[in-house]
Amino acid sequence: DVRVRFPPSPTGFIHVGNVRSALFNWAFARHFGGTMVLRIEDTDLARNTAEGYDSILDSLRWLGIDWDEGPEVGGKFGPYQQSERFETYAEVAERLRSAGKAYHCYCTNDEVEARRKASGSKTMGYDGFCRDLSPEQRFAFNEEERPPVLRFRMPDAPITFTDLVRGEVTFLPENVPDFALLRATGDPLYTLVNPVDDALMEITHVLRGEDLLSSTPRQIVLHEALHELGLGRGVPRFGHLPIVMGEGNKRLSKRDLGSGLSEYVDRGFLPEGILNYLALLGWGIAEDRDVFTMDEMAEAFDIQRVNPNPARFDLKKCEAINASHMRLISLEDMTGRVVPFLTRAGLVEDPITEEQWTLLEAAMPVVHERINTLGESVDMLAFLFVAEDSFTRDQTDVEKVLTEDGRSVVRASYDALAALPEWSTTAIEEALRAALVKGLGLKPRNAFGPVRVAVTGRRISPPLFESLELLGRERSLARLESALA
Ligand code: GLU
Repeated sequence: DVRVRFPPSPTGFIHVGNVRSALFNWAFARHFGGTMVLRIEDTDLARNTAEGYDSILDSLRWLGIDWDEGPEVGGKFGPYQQSERFETYAEVAERLRSAGKAYHCYCTNDEVEARRKASGSKTMGYDGFCRDLSPEQRFAFNEEERPPVLRFRMPDAPITFTDLVRGEVTFLPENVPDFALLRATGDPLYTLVNPVDDALMEITHVLRGEDLLSSTPRQIVLHEALHELGLGRGVPRFGHLPIVMGEGNKRLSKRDLGSGLSEYVDRGFLPEGILNYLALLGWGIAEDRDVFTMDEMAEAFDIQRVNPNPARFDLKKCEAINASHMRLISLEDMTGRVVPFLTRAGLVEDPITEEQWTLLEAAMPVVHERINTLGESVDMLAFLFVAEDSFTRDQTDVEKVLTEDGRSVVRASYDALAALPEWSTTAIEEALRAALVKGLGLKPRNAFGPVRVAVTGRRISPPLFESLELLGRERSLARLESALA
């Protein structure tokens, strides 16, 4: 019975590296018909916000990563928000203390530091001073009213485990000193709440970023201690996903372009596109295949085949993968998905009118192959949906193309199109070719630029003849005319 978890902290910023962890856990759970748990790690009340909580749930829904237990769906191991579990943590901490697996520590950082200097020790972290205080020493510290932290007692032996991605990993005791579970204020720390919840929620596999590898030996020993106390089912299997590298061979950070999920949402990436790309950060479906659906991923996913080497984040590649998914979407589907972007840009009404919807449906075949994100539809379609009195032209394009020569091209086009009995792409094309290529002797490559800028306002647009048909006779002629004014 496979049980995995995704435990984000609701700080408001959703890092794509975290999304990758969510995805790999999801694929692992779905592959085995297991359970995906969503747990909100919000014990750090100062850093966590209600908006952060909402944006996690919204983002997972937008991505299509569903969870079987957690906020809103419930489950028998709840609550799934750590801020509602403080009593549990206090209780478990007390059990660890009374079983001798954790102890009160009264040392200040300065005292620990001074002892290290005095002894010339090279090891970092806590030196175990308070491990075995005599009753008199303890009494004296209490008399001083020093509030103690609760520290876990680490074994004096190497800790070895088999990572699902990296194979055997060993930590030496000098690198894993006794660590704090509770602050002096009594507040529980990540070091306690994360493994306690993994134990109580009976998580079987912990798949997460390699940046958390250093906490794993502590969590393993803590799981063992909890199990001895009758809590949880023993140590889960761990698998650490490769680091995601950004600019300059450093870990992809908040400052790197493309590190935040919201950028992709805003630009109109498809969830299936961004997820497909994130899957490639450490995993692949087949040697010669980059593009796949999430169902295909779930079917084929094998954690043992995740590559432990750092993965390089490549926004260009991400865009290309997204573009491939755009091509896989049907026209009807695409039409529906584009609407919110047009609405936000003020190009269509909210809700879209019937007339605007009909025009959008007509335009979609022309636009579909030419946009790599849903957001690009705004620039592509603006000329068509803009109110006539708000239509403007790109000034640089105007200066480049609507020169004296350009204006005579526009004039000739106006005359040819005004005389057309039928307003269709083919008729428009024939008329313009006859007027500009045959009539004015222009090369086809240069002939249509002025018409394009006159009518769409830009040198880059959907194909010209189709655009003219979509725009209609009246609006097309009016724009040609106004370009000459
Ligand atoms: N709340 C932790 C984080 O977001 C969870 C880490 C883990 O997966 O253990 O980094």
